[in-house]
Amino acid sequence: MINVWYQEEAESDPNPIIEPEPIYDPYAASVHPLQTTVQEILGSSYRQFLLAGQVKRAKHIEAAYRLWDDITGQARYRKLIRCKSAAYFVVNKITKEVRVSSQCCNLRWCPICAKAKQTIATANVATWLKTKKHARFLTLTLEHSKGSLSGQIDLLYAYFKRLRKDPWFRSVVTGGIWFFQLKKSNTDGCWHPHLHCLVEGSYADQRRISELWRAISHGSPIVDIRHVGNLKKAAQYVGRYATAPCNLVELDLTDAVEVIESMHGRRCSGTWGSAKSVNLSKSCEYDENEWHTAYAFVWVSENKLTDPDCIMIWHCWRSGEPIPDDLLDRILDVKPEPWNNDPKDERKADEYIQREFDWSTFYNNGN
Ligand SMILES: [Zn+2]
Repeated sequence: MINVWYQEEAESDPNPIIEPEPIYDPYAASVHPLQTTVQEILGSSYRQFLLAGQVKRAKHIEAAYRLWDDITGQARYRKLIRCKSAAYFVVNKITKEVRVSSQCCNLRWCPICAKAKQTIATANVATWLKTKKHARFLTLTLEHSKGSLSGQIDLLYAYFKRLRKDPWFRSVVTGGIWFFQLKKSNTDGCWHPHLHCLVEGSYADQRRISELWRAISHGSPIVDIRHVGNLKKAAQYVGRYATAPCNLVELDLTDAVEVIESMHGRRCSGTWGSAKSVNLSKSCEYDENEWHTAYAFVWVSENKLTDPDCIMIWHCWRSGEPIPDDLLDRILDVKPEPWNNDPKDERKADEYIQREFDWSTFYNNGN
């Protein structure tokens, strides 16, 4: 079973979301104390819980945002390191389910937010793929170039737009989901931006698409097109790159900042034609009146071995078991704490709820 978190795609001020049992297990990873700057500051926070096991990655991304802030004069680093630090346990008054509601930074390269977006995109792509018998993967590349990364991305996006407008292409590819991927060559040091698309339509001759792409892109003939075999792998692949088109940890800080800057304000995935209705970041509707804010995550986390209520809340959250009636009654008596502890957070907190994507159900329904 895959956990799916819901939240908006665009960068915005922190919004809390209600989350399922986290994918990360803090007890499964041994974290070196010298690598835990964020965790030392935040103690038993939800952020610490989520970053366990990926501290090196988080620190690299934090350093890149810090460097980018130095260049731009912005304050995204501060926003990044506060992501998920404010969190509360919430209880569903009807189902008695326990989840965590937290504020997130929504920055594109934040490892926690990227994971949440990835699971949403994966589920939505899988749902779309389920109805497609002949989906194919189309890969569009550019000729190797030492040009600026931003300039290359501009060209790639412009050529792709032109390709989608071509009458013959439109007749064989009725629509699809596209996502951008970026790599840097270890041999020539060049950036290799390319586009992947999950497409539907009738049979499309690879040679003809390649010729068309060569004409549009002024000499980039390499086009790969193949049938999608494993739907689950395809959905997970798309989900991963639709939200984070590049692994910043593999790049030095200067390159990482160039990537962040080049992708800033750009979409890195989208849909067109017959797949237009697929929303890669769609959150599900929920009734916020059903959820009651219980206790701060930090308080439960720090007392989960000694306080009976904290032990039970933690257990119900981790196991998915409903909370006992007597504890629910006590929690309902607790006045919810205000969300905006930081006076600089002017935006009223909204809440989102996640749902779970069940692959076993997906396959049992004729896939
Ligand atoms: Zn974040």
